[in-house]
Amino acid sequence: MAQQLFTLNRLRQEIVRYFSVINPLEAGITKIDFEGPRIAIYTKNPELFVNQDQIAKDLVNLIKKRVVIRSDESIRMQREEVEEKIREFFGNTSGTIFNETLGEVIVELSPDRPLPSENELKQLSSVTLWTIKVERQPPMQTKTIEKIKKIIYGDPQYRIQVLRNIGERVFRDQVFEVNEALITILGSGQQVGRSAILLQTTESKILLDCGYSPSGSTNLEMIPRFDAVENIIEELDAVVVTHAHLDHMGMVPYLFKYGYRGPVYCTEPTLPLMLMQQLDFISVAEKEGLFPPYSEADVRLAIQHTVPLGYGVVTNITPDVRITFYNAGHILGSAVVHIHIGEGFHNIVYTSDFKFEDSRTLEACISKFPRIETLIMESTYGASQVSFNRAQSEQMLAEYVTKTVERGGKVLIPVPAVGRAQEIMLILNHLFDSKSIPEVPVFLDGLVIEATGIHVAFPRYMNQEIAKQVIENKNVFITEYFTPIKSQQQREEVLEMAGPMIIIATSGMLEGGPILTYLREYAGDEKNLLMFVSYQVEGTLGRRLLKDIREVRLIREDGKPELINVKMEITKIDGFSGHSSMQELLKYVKSIQPKPRNIVLVHGEPEAVSNLSKNISKLLPNAKIYTPRNLDSVTLEMKT
Ligand SMILES: [Zn+2]
Repeated sequence: MAQQLFTLNRLRQEIVRYFSVINPLEAGITKIDFEGPRIAIYTKNPELFVNQDQIAKDLVNLIKKRVVIRSDESIRMQREEVEEKIREFFGNTSGTIFNETLGEVIVELSPDRPLPSENELKQLSSVTLWTIKVERQPPMQTKTIEKIKKIIYGDPQYRIQVLRNIGERVFRDQVFEVNEALITILGSGQQVGRSAILLQTTESKILLDCGYSPSGSTNLEMIPRFDAVENIIEELDAVVVTHAHLDHMGMVPYLFKYGYRGPVYCTEPTLPLMLMQQLDFISVAEKEGLFPPYSEADVRLAIQHTVPLGYGVVTNITPDVRITFYNAGHILGSAVVHIHIGEGFHNIVYTSDFKFEDSRTLEACISKFPRIETLIMESTYGASQVSFNRAQSEQMLAEYVTKTVERGGKVLIPVPAVGRAQEIMLILNHLFDSKSIPEVPVFLDGLVIEATGIHVAFPRYMNQEIAKQVIENKNVFITEYFTPIKSQQQREEVLEMAGPMIIIATSGMLEGGPILTYLREYAGDEKNLLMFVSYQVEGTLGRRLLKDIREVRLIREDGKPELINVKMEITKIDGFSGHSSMQELLKYVKSIQPKPRNIVLVHGEPEAVSNLSKNISKLLPNAKIYTPRNLDSVTLEMKT
């Protein structure tokens, strides 16, 4: 508390100095508060509130912190009058959410309504002296986004307290000078999955990703090695989540279960995608008769502590660490994190999972950064000799579908809900439109449908072409060729249908989800095809089938195991992967600017990591390359 007062007093002095020396405006500051990683300045001077953009910009330069200017309660227009103004301006809206504490109103618009310009919004804010924000309801209803709103806006006082606590941590005075930084691999060391990297400086402890391993069978194998770090829950300052795959964020609620109450940073789309998959993770575990490692209450708690950030926004997350997210091209909202330690002490780029090629939904991963000394990079395809590209892969997919349909078979495509599913939908749309494959019904089952809804809610995180179509309210994914399956009865009807069809269902590695229902039904017929379009982790059912193990054990809906004999054709097409191919990984190292001194290879099986390391050392002979195992550390030195 004393610490907080001290920091706030110092900030107040700097702000007062700004107004007395640089900007002679009467500031009328009534309160300064922490709002997560930024500082909120409340004013009763309407002029200051109206001119907030320039003032916030100046203050950021002066105090090097993100600032938001808010109106004091005493000058805000009455709520009824504001509602009247909003009606005058927008006509009918889908709803308004008032946040009295912040003086903020969120206006919800239906998806067919054009968005107002920024200037129009500012005008409305100047008249009402409330901060007016607009949210367009997503073109597809999604339960998850509704749930997020309930969790975050449902208890505004708790959320404000959370943000204040986060601010206290972020803006505390730096005690130690940074002269050392260390990264310790708690997961993803020579393995695919359970990404978890602890970054420690003399001042801060930050966890980069907090994933789970789909292939482990004991806690020690599935959960990051938190057991090896003393007091991690008490001392952790922040968790940074790069994207919404379980092997990167599946264990975040687990930290909350054991008492962590600090911030979780991720991009805006990652927030709902993360909630959706964590809840699914619990329900899949329960269905299999396993004890889930955390409850829905832990998931909600984690969401209440999550701070979404846009790409390119530089954000202080501790006194000596700033992060910035950039597009990683892997799945919707996936991020490469640029981490700046100390004032110029060291810069890390953590790629996490990335794709260095444009896909149908996303642009390729960013490779130019302001500064970089250490690159922490994924190695999933580091040993794969198969060279694949999208055009060839799409061609292959068309051939497989045509062949299977012509012999009267069904095509079963297991997909991870997020990313690959939407890619495959866009490809099938294209193939149907261009008459490159025979027109057969396509059924979507499982989380695919909900995940697609979240995609269209965040058009600006996709490539320009898709974004434009979605903003124009065009359904680019679920077109007339597709039928989403919404009930058990509908599913049973599909299972009884004869003749060729395509089924796209979760989960992608056959570790649960409705795909197993279809697999059980279709496995025995050689005419059918099982087509993998994503990476299959060692130890999963998908991987076993790829190794041509044809007798497999499935868990039935009633929880009993059943042995089935898989006779259907099995194939895997690599080119749709959200991961970079071997060639793209090397191309990335060649393209990255500036060149790193250290390269740390993670998220790859031992063979992939060592092969990639050999190849990179030829490209960058002066770089130090690390291939740590779990629990290994790498010391980062002062930038030279
Ligand atoms: Zn991933």
